[in-house]
Amino acid sequence: RGDVQEPVIPFAQPGSRTRVYAVASGKGGVGKSSVTVNLAASLAARGLSVGVVDADIYGHSVPRMLGADGRPTQVESMIMPPSSHGVKVISIGMFTPGNTAVVWRGPMLHRALQQFLADVYWGDLDVLLLDLPPGTGDVAISLAQLLPSAEILVVTTPQAAAAEVAERAGSIALQTHQRIVGVVENMSWLELPTGEKMEIFGAGGGQTVADSLSRLVGAKVPLLGQIPLDTRLREAGDSGQPLVLATPDAPAAVALSAVADRL
Ligand code: ADP
Repeated sequence: RGDVQEPVIPFAQPGSRTRVYAVASGKGGVGKSSVTVNLAASLAARGLSVGVVDADIYGHSVPRMLGADGRPTQVESMIMPPSSHGVKVISIGMFTPGNTAVVWRGPMLHRALQQFLADVYWGDLDVLLLDLPPGTGDVAISLAQLLPSAEILVVTTPQAAAAEVAERAGSIALQTHQRIVGVVENMSWLELPTGEKMEIFGAGGGQTVADSLSRLVGAKVPLLGQIPLDTRLREAGDSGQPLVLATPDAPAAVALSAVADRL
């Protein structure tokens, strides 16, 4: 097709006012997607224009958690993303046939991410959140190339082993010269009916990651919040109603909204 033109990514243009946050974790199952959708819903509820890119090929659970069951449509050369709760969302899962697990190679992922950023009609966003696959994989590197101004938000559990891998995921920002906006500790404790906080996954992981990353990048990386365990958070995700909207006074929702305040 002759010359291959690099697609234009509006968020990478000088003067773009969209703040882009890539939500990263060391391993799966720590609540990265849950945190992403609740931050998105919380920011949208304040009247901000918000988009989410679900780039987690292993999970791609964001549309379900947001209740975005529409399909993307094509208008001329642009992809129109479905939206739910005021959040525009595009997911790698929307482009895979059925529910079959796809083995994506690095270059395909790079291309998919590029398309999500360049060919999706996002409009004038205040905030774009990207739910990255767990680990220090190809997608994080691709993102850094496509969108060096994206800031990294690291999600971990309090567990030492999880904190270690989260640190490694965060440390990729050092190589890519991206800013780390902060750390969110999820599943911090379970509040018992007696009021006692039971630390099911241990304690201290979030602060440990924040301190290590601060040392690594030579700047303060704050612990932005600690999100308790709450069965309503999972139920809210399963039913497509993020907890911050479904039960805004639940402690986990209050903690998530406080993180959104600090973005
Ligand atoms: P990840 O994106 O890191 O793989 P998810 O957001 O998919 O993790 O969360 C994994 C599972 O744990 C989901 O079923 C989710 O509903 C549940 N979950 C996440 N955070 C919490 C929490 N604070 N309390 C209760 N359940 C949670």
